[in-house]
Amino acid sequence: MSDTIQCHVHGEQQETFVCQHLAESLETGEKVGFFWSGEPRGDAWCSECEVVRVREGGASGHWNERSEKALGIEILCGACYDRVRELQGF
Ligand SMILES: [Zn+2]
Ligand SMILES: [Zn+2]
Repeated sequence: MSDTIQCHVHGEQQETFVCQHLAESLETGEKVGFFWSGEPRGDAWCSECEVVRVREGGASGHWNERSEKALGIEILCGACYDRVRELQGF
């Protein structure tokens, strides 16, 4: 079972991780793309971060210090994560 966090909107929820741009899109409604690890509510990032990931990690797509810095990972509650994904059309 994953860790939980207390969301000021949704109460106690699963803890999820997204890049700063996806977290921001929740406020702005901006379309920034949506990529994720493939697991339900897996770590997610935007198109901009995807470009950096591929540039830094090559074919294997491994994250490194530079691409992780671009991510600026933020914690979201599971319900907020679902809202972001829906907002981005996934
Ligand atoms: Zn991003
Ligand atoms: Zn929430």
